[in-house]
Amino acid sequence: MSLGIDVIPKKVCSLDCVYCEVGETTKLTVDRREYVLYDRIVAELDQYFQTEDRLPDYYTFSGSGEPTLNSRLADLIRYVKERRPSAPVAVLTNGTLLHDPEVRAAVSLADLVLPSLDSAREESFRAINRPEASLSVQAYVDGLVAFRAEYPGKIYLEVFVLPGYNMADEDADSLRAAVLRIGPDLIQINTLDRPGAIPGLRAATEREIDSFIHRLNLSHVEIIAPVQERKKNMSYRHDTESAILETIQRRPCTLEDITKILGMHVNEVNKYLDVLENDGRIEVVSQERGFFYRPARKEA
Ligand code: SF4
Repeated sequence: MSLGIDVIPKKVCSLDCVYCEVGETTKLTVDRREYVLYDRIVAELDQYFQTEDRLPDYYTFSGSGEPTLNSRLADLIRYVKERRPSAPVAVLTNGTLLHDPEVRAAVSLADLVLPSLDSAREESFRAINRPEASLSVQAYVDGLVAFRAEYPGKIYLEVFVLPGYNMADEDADSLRAAVLRIGPDLIQINTLDRPGAIPGLRAATEREIDSFIHRLNLSHVEIIAPVQERKKNMSYRHDTESAILETIQRRPCTLEDITKILGMHVNEVNKYLDVLENDGRIEVVSQERGFFYRPARKEA
């Protein structure tokens, strides 16, 4: 169980990944700023700490965008560690800013770092991650290598695979070379299970993932748990599930509609949509304004 601490507003990011579950990046940037004010986050954390009845396994810095873009990230990690010395802190990052020593120093304060790297080839990197113009895959990988050299904690590297984007043999070969330089403790392979930022994407099949992993030929590789496993692990609330179902029964809604109506975080809503879609209780339809969720229509 992890408490997500969202330090970036939707949707400020250094990448605009085609598969992003949060939606299209509206501010594509590498400028580090106090996008959400330190005082505001600390006030909310204090409020949460007062009513916290059980320590989460991790306090996880993430965001509706890239958390290392928040220029006060180091202060925020220190604050959580002062208030909750016994609970570990994790940072979920796309890793593109790790070439900056200041970012590396901030992220090093965490106990677990989960950066991503979907491709080590410039062409595939541009296609799948649609980076801010100044970013290059070379600097990206070098940043991860430099971070590994300085950071003694655990690094779990996530690779998001998408057929037609980053699963060719040359992608696997260059990724292998990059991973051998970086030396993460674990590589986690993930693929699509929610609509991405653009239409027409599909998840990699089990067979495609297996053959990609075979080509990678690396140790410490795992496939991120399928939906049913996640359902067992998350704190699943049936009243929340009912609220989402009732909302989309009234009228089909986008992810954004549901988050606004129910006042929930986008990542949290996504977890429930995963389970409901996997159970065949809801379906997604693509329309002009985006992807809409509605109750599944039973076959006649
Ligand atoms: S998936 Fe992560 S890195 Fe990619 S656009 Fe979305 S928030 Fe940014």
